[in-house]
Amino acid sequence: MERLAGDMDFRKALSENVEAPRAVTERFGIEVDPMEMLPLWRGSHLKYRFKPESAPWPLAMMWDEYMREMLRHRDLLRDQGGMSMINPRFHAWRERQIRRCNDELGRSAPAVTHPIIAFELSEGCSVGCSFCGLSADRFKGYYEYSKDHTELWRGVVGAASEMFGSAARTGFCYWATDPMDNPDYDRFLFDYYQITGALPQTTTAAPLKDEALTRRVLELFDMHGTTTNRFSVLSTRHLNEIHRAFSPEELMGVELILQGKEAPIAKALTGRARERKEKLRVANKDDAVALLERDHTTIACVSGFLVNMRQGRLQLVTPVPGSDRWPLGYRILGQHSFRTPGEFRKGVQIMINQYMLDSPAADLPICFRRDLQYQAGDRYFHLRSRNREHRVLDDVAPISVGDLIARGNCTASELVMQVATDGMSVLAIADLLDQLYAAGLIEEDLDDTSPDKLATG
Ligand code: SF4
Repeated sequence: MERLAGDMDFRKALSENVEAPRAVTERFGIEVDPMEMLPLWRGSHLKYRFKPESAPWPLAMMWDEYMREMLRHRDLLRDQGGMSMINPRFHAWRERQIRRCNDELGRSAPAVTHPIIAFELSEGCSVGCSFCGLSADRFKGYYEYSKDHTELWRGVVGAASEMFGSAARTGFCYWATDPMDNPDYDRFLFDYYQITGALPQTTTAAPLKDEALTRRVLELFDMHGTTTNRFSVLSTRHLNEIHRAFSPEELMGVELILQGKEAPIAKALTGRARERKEKLRVANKDDAVALLERDHTTIACVSGFLVNMRQGRLQLVTPVPGSDRWPLGYRILGQHSFRTPGEFRKGVQIMINQYMLDSPAADLPICFRRDLQYQAGDRYFHLRSRNREHRVLDDVAPISVGDLIARGNCTASELVMQVATDGMSVLAIADLLDQLYAAGLIEEDLDDTSPDKLATG
């Protein structure tokens, strides 16, 4: 499947030799019998012209089962981030972000598992992918595994583990960075495992940069891993080199993400891919733009905290579709700096108190999310998003609560005062607002502060 998705020559050779595919696979060093894989090829969007057979295709069935298991695992990872007992406020906020994302992220939504924390162990990235959805800066250095750094690292991970419980196991150690830029990466990983009980998943576009380090990471996965690692493959040549350097057995716990030009994989419209789209548009290259205009809105996945250890920076983030305001595909709600585990803990708590509200803020304008289309009905209303339609009963007051929210020119407390007729209706209206809020239908991004000017606490 890797060869099929990542190598144009292989695909071409197969389509020219539909009656004798084995000769092609052998030429490309693939030992399995292609006839056992027929359903995959016919089922794939690569459209091969093989005739159906009645054989059981055991390899194809194994592959299907493997893929089904990966999808089940993805859902388990999302559930692992639950914190209803240990941190109910963070839990409710994350659940709300999940519902909003399911509504507005298009086909990116099912793949987002909403880990609650991610750490950067370098500053910038040395790989410099042209499609980087996070527009990673050029590499400026890595966080060394010195005595002081180790103490801070273990203290910060320990604080996260205490505050978030088992949800801290969803954490991972890269973002707009490549793990292999840090030669001590495996030591940080092992600390994380010892403190939280889970080995963070690794994604790297530079598995060949330091093969000994990559092998140490794969060995850690063999001993303690639960979540499949990923190598981003940047070209067919890169695919060949990876296949040469690592055996099939070594790659059993690694998913190869074919990102090269020859791979039919859509890039999210964020970061450098978004900048490229603008250039193509200016150059009137509509065909090329159309290829990018797919429903893939972001590669960001964290609904929680993003921590850069080298800069001592802590941000609260959540995925959003790439836009002029949030071109990297995630919204930054606030940020703090820290030098000690105590300051880290304090910064986290301040942001939980400030941004993770249980109800819509009483003194701020209340309106529906900007991407939703409002349609009034008789004692109900509809809200249409990119992915779905909501029908909401609107019968708690003599006038429509939906209409007032859609107008967006009053605060939550003013709205309640306008429509309530007695104490009972105050409660009913507040309850309706809470339900809309919990469903992620109320706009939360009300602050128009430029992301570059976010205050740092
Ligand atoms: S996609 Fe990953 S590896 Fe490539 S430049 Fe961005 S952060 Fe670095």
